[in-house]
Amino acid sequence: MPQDFIHVKGAREHNLKNIEITIPRDQLVVITGVSGSGKSSLAFDTIYAEGQRRYVESLSAYARQFLGRMDKPDVDYIEGLSPAISIDQKGVSHNPRSTVGTVTEIYDYLRLLFARVGIPHCPKCGSPVARQTVSQIVDSIMSLEEGSRITLLSPKIRRKKGEHKDVFDAARKAGFVRIRVNGEIRMLEETDNLNLNKQKWHYIELVVDRIIVRPETELARVAESVETCLREGEGVVEVLRESADGGESETLIFSEQFACAKCNPPRGLLRVHRLGYKLAVDPELVVPNKNLSLAQGAITPWVKVGTSGAWYTSLMEAVAEANGFSAKVPVREMDPEHVDLILYGNGGQKIERYMSARPCRSCGGRRLRPEALAVRVCGLGIMEVCAKNIGAAAEWVEQIDPDSEFNRNGNGGLPHPNPAPEGEGIEVLGNGRRNGSKNGRRASKNGKAAAPQVLSTRDKTIANQVLKEIDGRLKFLMGIGLDYVTMDRTAQTLSGGEAQRVRLATQIGSGLTGVLYVCDEPTVGLHPHDDQRLINTLSRLRDMGNTVLVVEHDEAMMRSADFIADLGPRAGEHGGQVVAVGTVEEIERSEESLTGQYLSGRKQVPFPEERRPGNGLSLTVTGARENNLCGIDVEFPLGRLVCITGVSGSGKSSLVYEILYKKLNQRINNGRDLPGKHDDLLGVEGVDKVVKIDQSPIGRTPRSNPATYTGAFTPIRELFANLPESRVRGYKPGRFSFNVKGGRCEACQGDGYNQIEMQFLPDVTVPCEICHGLRYNREALEVTMRGKHIADVLNMTVDTALEFFLNFPRISPKLKTLRDVGLGYIRLGQPATTLSGGEAQRVKLATELSKRATGKTVYLLDEPTTGLSFEDCAALLGVLHRLVDTGNTVILIEHNIDVMENADWLIDLGPGAGDKGGQLIATGTPEELAEHPSSVTAPYLKAALEKSRTHASAHRATEELASVV
Ligand code: ADP
Ligand code: ADP
Ligand code: ZN
Ligand code: ZN
Repeated sequence: MPQDFIHVKGAREHNLKNIEITIPRDQLVVITGVSGSGKSSLAFDTIYAEGQRRYVESLSAYARQFLGRMDKPDVDYIEGLSPAISIDQKGVSHNPRSTVGTVTEIYDYLRLLFARVGIPHCPKCGSPVARQTVSQIVDSIMSLEEGSRITLLSPKIRRKKGEHKDVFDAARKAGFVRIRVNGEIRMLEETDNLNLNKQKWHYIELVVDRIIVRPETELARVAESVETCLREGEGVVEVLRESADGGESETLIFSEQFACAKCNPPRGLLRVHRLGYKLAVDPELVVPNKNLSLAQGAITPWVKVGTSGAWYTSLMEAVAEANGFSAKVPVREMDPEHVDLILYGNGGQKIERYMSARPCRSCGGRRLRPEALAVRVCGLGIMEVCAKNIGAAAEWVEQIDPDSEFNRNGNGGLPHPNPAPEGEGIEVLGNGRRNGSKNGRRASKNGKAAAPQVLSTRDKTIANQVLKEIDGRLKFLMGIGLDYVTMDRTAQTLSGGEAQRVRLATQIGSGLTGVLYVCDEPTVGLHPHDDQRLINTLSRLRDMGNTVLVVEHDEAMMRSADFIADLGPRAGEHGGQVVAVGTVEEIERSEESLTGQYLSGRKQVPFPEERRPGNGLSLTVTGARENNLCGIDVEFPLGRLVCITGVSGSGKSSLVYEILYKKLNQRINNGRDLPGKHDDLLGVEGVDKVVKIDQSPIGRTPRSNPATYTGAFTPIRELFANLPESRVRGYKPGRFSFNVKGGRCEACQGDGYNQIEMQFLPDVTVPCEICHGLRYNREALEVTMRGKHIADVLNMTVDTALEFFLNFPRISPKLKTLRDVGLGYIRLGQPATTLSGGEAQRVKLATELSKRATGKTVYLLDEPTTGLSFEDCAALLGVLHRLVDTGNTVILIEHNIDVMENADWLIDLGPGAGDKGGQLIATGTPEELAEHPSSVTAPYLKAALEKSRTHASAHRATEELASVV
C-alpha cells in the first residue's frame, strides 16, 4: 500500500536533535537552513543513507558482498521510503577518460550505432571499403616473402584477467591442438599446465594452421584456415610470420572489416598512447615573458638551473653572435627562426618540465584505433559526432533519421523535459525534415555530399531503438541548459554544477519512477536565467512519479517547491532542529524561520549605497580567445569588488581563471600553467600578489583539516608544549602532532582508524582499537589545558575553540576568520576529505584573510556563496568588503543576486553559452548594468535592486515610526 508521506522519527545523525519530520512523497521538496544546520545530515546521511541501506539489504548475499557493509543511520525509523539515488557534486569520476558522452552513456549507444550501421572507410585515403574478403587476405599472405613460416592465429582473449578455462575447453572441443598463451605456443593436452593466474591480464589466440609460403602451397587450404580464423576471431586474423632463417618475426593483423582496395591492407594495430596525450615542448612555458631578452633570462629553464644560468647566458650570447643576432633584444622582436634555434637547436635540456599535455598526434586524443575512427554513419565518424556539442548532436540525429517515430511525436516516447519553450532549440523537433535538408545543404558545401545524409530504411529499422536512447538523453541535456557542452569534453573539466546537471539528465533519461532523488544544491553555477529550466527538469522528474528532495538556498527554487523544510536555527550544536515546514507562504509567515524572514523581506542581505570608485588602476586582458571567447578586451578595475556575471557557459571561467589568473600567476609567481589564449595583460605593475580561492579540496588526505590548513594547529601545539605538565615531562610541540612519532597512537599511526584490506571486497574502515579514534597515545592525552586534552581540542567546533582560546593572540585571529566566513560550526579536526567544495573554499578564504594583505593583492573567487544561506551570505559579504576596504581587489564569479548588488563593478558576458556566448555585453555599477537593454542579467538585477530599495525604505520607515512612538 503506497504511502503519501516519508515519515522520519528520532533522527540523530551528527547535530540532528532527535527530530521528527513528515515529508510529502512525489513532490518537489526543498530542505534549507544556514550552512551547518543539518540539511545534509538529514537529506543525505539519514534519508538517503537509509534508502540505500534498505535497497542493499534487499539484494542477494552475492550482490551485497560487492557493495560493502552499510551502517544504519542514527534514526528510530523511517516510513514510506523508496529506493534512493543521490546526485551530489562530488560524484563525478576522476577518471581522465570519462567524458560527457560516457557519463551519460550516449557514447556507448553511439558505438552501438556505429557497430550496427556504420560503413568502414580507409583510415589512410578515406575511401569507403568493402569488407576485406577471404581471398584478399589469402592473396596478401601468399605475397609474403617465399619461405616465410606462417602461423595463423585467431585472437580469443585480449588483455583480460581470469583463468579462461572456458576458452580452453571450447578450443579442445572444437578439435584445436595448439593454443598461444601470452605469446607462447602450448599444446592443448597439457591441461594441468594451463592453470592461469586469474589475477593477471592474459592474451590467448587459437593456433589454426601453420604453413610455409611456397609457390606450390594449396590456396584452398589457406583459404579454409583463414575462414576458420575469421569465424573464431570475430573477423580478425593474426598472422605470425617468421623469415625462412628464423631471424626475424613480425605479427600482421588482417581484419575482415577494415582494409582498403587502394591502399595496402593495414599491417599491425597502431599503438596509441594510453591517455591520448603526449608531452610536447611548449614555447609558452619556456618563454613566458616575451618582453625579456635572452640576456635578461627570457628562457625560464636556464634561469632555473641556478648559478650555471650565467654560463648559459654567455653561451647564448656566443650562439647569437655566431648566428648574427643579438641576445639583447626582447624575444618578441626576434626572428622566429632564431627563437627556434634557441629552443630546439641543441636539444637535451631539462625540458620535460616545460612541456604540457598536447593531444597525441596519431589519434588526436581520441584513444581509438584508426580503423574504428574511420567507420562512418551518414558521412561522419564517431569522433566527429562526439566533437559536436549536445545541441548540434541532437540536430544530427534528427537529420539522419528525419521521419523517425520520435521526430513525429516530438519526444521519442520519452517524457519531455520542458513544454518545448520557444527559442530554446527544442521546437525543431516537430519538423525534422526541414532541418534535415538544411543540414544536407551545409554538408554538400563542405564537399562531403558523397555520403548519404539519411539512413537507409534497413538501417533505420536496425538503429531505431539505439537512436531513441541517444536522442532522449540529448534532449534532456538540452532541457537542462547544457546544449553548449561537447560530448567529448572530459568530465574533469566540467564545473561541479555542470557535472551534477549532466548526471541529473542521465537519471531522467533512464526514465525510472518511484525513486527518491536527493540533490545537493543543483543551482550551483546557474545564472538566474537558467534557474527556471532546472526547476522545470526537477518538476518533470517529480511528475514522472518520483520524490525529489533538494538541499538548496536558491530563492527561485524555494518559490517553486511544493514543500519546504527549514532547519536551524543556527549551525552545529545550535542547529539540528526543524524550525518550520510547509509551503513557501507558510515559511514566509513563520516567526522563527530565518529563511522566512528573508523570503518575506522582513530581513535582507544589506548592500552599500555607495559604490567604491577604485584606485584608478586596472588590469586589462586584450584579445581574449580561450574556449568560446571572441577576442574580447576586458578591463578589471583595481581596488573594487568586481563581479563577473553571465549565463553558465558564457565564458566567465575561461576569462577569469584560464587567462587572468594563470597570466598573473605566471608573471607574479612564476607559475607554470599556460594561460589561455589572449594577446596581452596590461597593468600588472599595479598588483603585487594574486590569490586564487576556488572550490578544489584543501587536501586529499584525512590528515589535513581546518586546524592544520589555516595554520592554527601549530600555535595550539606550542601552547600545549608550554603547559607545566609538558615542561615537567619534557614534551615538545611534536608530541602533540598526529603525524609524527612521539605523541600519536602507533596502532593507527595517528589516523584514528584502521583500514582493513579485504580480498575481493572494498577496504573496510574501523576505529582504532587502541586509541578509540582519538589519534594520540595515553601519554600525550594526559596533558590537559582547562580539562581538555589535544584530541578534545581537535574535536571542538570553531565557535567553541574560539571561546577556549580567546586570549591567545596567535590562535584566536585564525579561528575568528573561520567564524567570519560562516564556518563556526565545523570541527578543527574534521578531515579535509569530508568538507564540501564550498566549505573548502571558505577555509581557504579564511586562511588568506588571516595573512597580512599587501593592499595590492588580487583575490579571485569562484561562486563563494555555494552552500550559503541568506544569513551566511550576508556575513561573507562583510568579509569581502573588508578586504576591498584595505585597498585590495576582489574579483569573483557569481550568480547570486545579493552578491551582484554588493559589487562595485559588474562585468557581464554573454549573450548565451558556448558559441552563442564569449562576448563582453556590458560593464558598470549594478545600477548602470540594471538599465542595460540586452544583458540577460539586467532584468534580474533591476528587479532585485528595486525590491531591496523598497524593503530598505519600508524598514527605515518602521524604525522612524518606532522612534517616534
Ligand atoms: P548543512 O548540510 O546544513 O550545511 P551538515 O548536515 O553538513 O549541515 O552538518 C551539520 C552538523 O554536523 C555540522 O555541525 C557539521 O560539522 C556536522 N557534521 C557534518 N558531517 C559530519 C561528519 N561526517 N562527522 C561529524 N560531524 C559532521
Ligand atoms: P562559464 O564560466 O561562464 O560557465 P566557461 O568559461 O567555463 O563558462 O565555458 C565557456 C565555453 O568554453 C563553454 O562553451 C564551455 O563548454 C567551453 N569550455 C570550457 N572549458 C573547456 C575545456 N576545458 N575544454 C573545452 N571546452 C571548454
Ligand atoms: Zn585507402
Ligand atoms: Zn589509534
